Amino acid sequence: MDSITLTINGLIASGRVGMTILDLAREMGIYIPTLCYDPSLSLAGACRICLVEEEKTGALLASCVTPIASGMVIQTNSPRVVESRKMILKLMLASHPESCLLCDKGNRCQLRQIAADLDIGLIDLDKLPNYTGTQEVNPFLKRDLAKCILCGKCVRADQELVVEGAIDYWQRGFAAKPATLYDQPLEKSSCTFCGTCVTLCPTGALSEKDKPSLSSALKTFSSICPYCACGCALSLGTNCSGVVEVEPEPRRETANGKTLCVKGHYGWDFIRSKERLLSPLLKKEGSWHECSWEEAFTLAVDKLKEISQAYGPEAWAFLGSSQCTNEENYLFQKLARWGIGTNNIDNGSRVYGPPDPGLFGPDWGWGAMTSPIADLEKARCILLIGANPAETAPLVAYKIKRAVRFKNGELILVDPRWTRLTPLARYWVRPRWGTDGLLILGFLRVIWEEKLFDQELGEHLLGWEEFKKEIGFLNLREIAKETEVGVEIIRDVARAIARQKPLAIVFGNGLWQGENKSFNLRALQNLCLITDLFRNNGGIYPLGKESNGQGARDMGCLPDFLPGYQSLSDEEIRRKFSQVWGQAPPLAKGFNIWEMFAQAQKGKIKGMYIMGENPLLALPDKHFVESALKKLDFLIVQDLFLTDTAQLAHLILPAASFAEKEGTMTSAERRVQLLEKAEEPKGQSLPDWQILNEILSRLKGTPPLANLREVLSEISKLVPFYQGITPERLKKESLFWPCLTEQSPGSPNFWQHVWPPSRLWPMSKERTPQGPGEDEWVLIWGNSLFQGGSGTRSSRSRRLRDISPAMILQINPQEAARRGLADGSMVRIAWSGRSMVLPIALAQEVPAGILFCPVSRGKTPASELAVFAADLSGDFPFPRSMKVRMEGI
Ligand code: SF4
Repeated sequence: MDSITLTINGLIASGRVGMTILDLAREMGIYIPTLCYDPSLSLAGACRICLVEEEKTGALLASCVTPIASGMVIQTNSPRVVESRKMILKLMLASHPESCLLCDKGNRCQLRQIAADLDIGLIDLDKLPNYTGTQEVNPFLKRDLAKCILCGKCVRADQELVVEGAIDYWQRGFAAKPATLYDQPLEKSSCTFCGTCVTLCPTGALSEKDKPSLSSALKTFSSICPYCACGCALSLGTNCSGVVEVEPEPRRETANGKTLCVKGHYGWDFIRSKERLLSPLLKKEGSWHECSWEEAFTLAVDKLKEISQAYGPEAWAFLGSSQCTNEENYLFQKLARWGIGTNNIDNGSRVYGPPDPGLFGPDWGWGAMTSPIADLEKARCILLIGANPAETAPLVAYKIKRAVRFKNGELILVDPRWTRLTPLARYWVRPRWGTDGLLILGFLRVIWEEKLFDQELGEHLLGWEEFKKEIGFLNLREIAKETEVGVEIIRDVARAIARQKPLAIVFGNGLWQGENKSFNLRALQNLCLITDLFRNNGGIYPLGKESNGQGARDMGCLPDFLPGYQSLSDEEIRRKFSQVWGQAPPLAKGFNIWEMFAQAQKGKIKGMYIMGENPLLALPDKHFVESALKKLDFLIVQDLFLTDTAQLAHLILPAASFAEKEGTMTSAERRVQLLEKAEEPKGQSLPDWQILNEILSRLKGTPPLANLREVLSEISKLVPFYQGITPERLKKESLFWPCLTEQSPGSPNFWQHVWPPSRLWPMSKERTPQGPGEDEWVLIWGNSLFQGGSGTRSSRSRRLRDISPAMILQINPQEAARRGLADGSMVRIAWSGRSMVLPIALAQEVPAGILFCPVSRGKTPASELAVFAADLSGDFPFPRSMKVRMEGI
């Protein structure tokens, strides 16, 4: 690459074409103050505080927007530069309120810092009155635009990083300010309260509302967002009162850069909730009694032994957590397998999480994303199906929006409802309920018929002949009729998918949570194969829902796999475990989460240990789950709160929150990251790993593992694709598995290191679910932006709770009018002899024939209405939608 030579502060310097003076100066370690500049934003050159002098021409140049040129002689700190900076700053301060003592930005205000650096105290200019008043109606942010210096960072953050377009400049001259259209309050705009503008605002114009402490953070600790599976890295700021603020982690390369969503930024206050469990609780004669840890450990160990001795180890079932760390989940499955001797172990991510490893095996990344989330921006075509990342995985939505808005990517959105991503879609396809897989089959038929695939592909693929035969029998018109998507649309979309490379496929539980799960996922796998996605830098992005569902599965909280998805029956693997544990793991496959409850109901499971999950809310049919839990001889629940499930426990072990412990977590993109302990656990609560370590040690009569490092080292011995991951490395960088050696840089792109899949599935047309009959509706439920998982934490975050909708039924306004229903009318919905009463809300985004219910504080209609599937051999006992009847009351 050509280099450019110039002089900066008397030093000869070489830079690359395209660098600005600021870039080069920073590379040389020369400080130039900035206010409107941020490397993650486009260049604005708005504040001019970064002025430098070009000696030859005498020009004062804004260094952040001026490219370097050969022969330039730059002075970054000449008397003229300093004088000009002072004047610029004084002009800013002339209209800035003198309220530094009361300002939330405190000593992090960049304006104040630069003023101090330039020796500016009180200014000698007349003050310009500029009172706008503070706007703080929403629960998350305050705006005091009198402190705004018009750097435009908030506008660029909104438009470029999270791509919402909620704010822009409003008015001109002295009246100019960043505002929503017509200067409406933020809560009436498309703002999602992600807080990216607050993170980037250099002054106190934008700040967090209702911080637990007005004083600034004194220390920061790295952590991971406890909500969705995107794995956004957090920096927890603490002072003597504990965590006082959360910002995106600035110290290493992360998936999220400068962005977070509202949950990650402001939903952490559940750690300070008054409802936290502060000591172990024991149920005696129907009421709770505090007890010591000694009593709690003794009772837990006695019961673990007693029940397994009386009924055998298979009488215990263990439910691991999609929110606890890798080390905790590893120890939990070790407790089940090594401590008790059963494979009855699963984790909560089976309910909503990515496709299970049985379907997406070793060549598919075991159900994880195969490329980093950042690579979505490189995709030319993004097929988004069965998922609404704008609500459930906001970081993925930011990347999709950036791909479309700035990188010429094309979005194909398959969703019956209007979502925040609909305006960006090149094609918005709305198939009839339950026919997504059939629609994919339609795409396959077109690609095959129009020969839109590499003609030599067939030689490499297993099952090619059978696939060709089956696909040749398909009738596109029939598919169009059943899916209610026009033939020409199916053709156009199929052509776009086949021709635009790289292709990224983002999919969610709309595809895998339902009757046709296997059919849908196999059709999708065939689509990946036929478009040769692997050799064209494409990726698949299954959207998990919980922060460490990936880690819980990787660590073996699964009834049919040992840690690292290793076979229960392979002799060599069993020997390896036996060498480390001193005994081989049990051989027989255990019960999954559905089977555990079915067996508990039959009285075959006598004891259950649930860590960090709330199945009474998360599973369908709370009546069934409750009665199964009540039949247990002993239930241990380890959690932060007295959840609905914990209320039924015999023993409750209080756990520390994510901010109060160390460990590692693995995001959906296979990125392993470190959590640092930012504050002490509340009351007597303990990190889950310490509780498990103690129970294991007492149960087996062995010394406990000395620290977390020993747990991680045991994991690296047993799980081949975690072998190169060490705490020392994680302190400096996050690592993507597979990471086979300590020298390996990890594998952001899965298929660069693993041979891609090559099996095509035979695909005859599946029987599609019958549409709703007369007077029947399809009821769908899904998470809202302000709630996560089963709501254990988000419903105890005061700020998230304040803005979350109560349980409502969204209905198309025209449909409602036809039935004489208005906004707020109460209706009864019924299914299989069960019913519930809910208010309705008119929502244009919901199509006719569908009712949509946002998950509210973890509650879904499935909990009340669904009937636990008696036949667990089916594809998925917990559909994401159901047919209901509705009547006004
Ligand atoms: Fe990131 Fe997901 Fe947390 Fe939002 S909820 S901050 S997208 S990890």
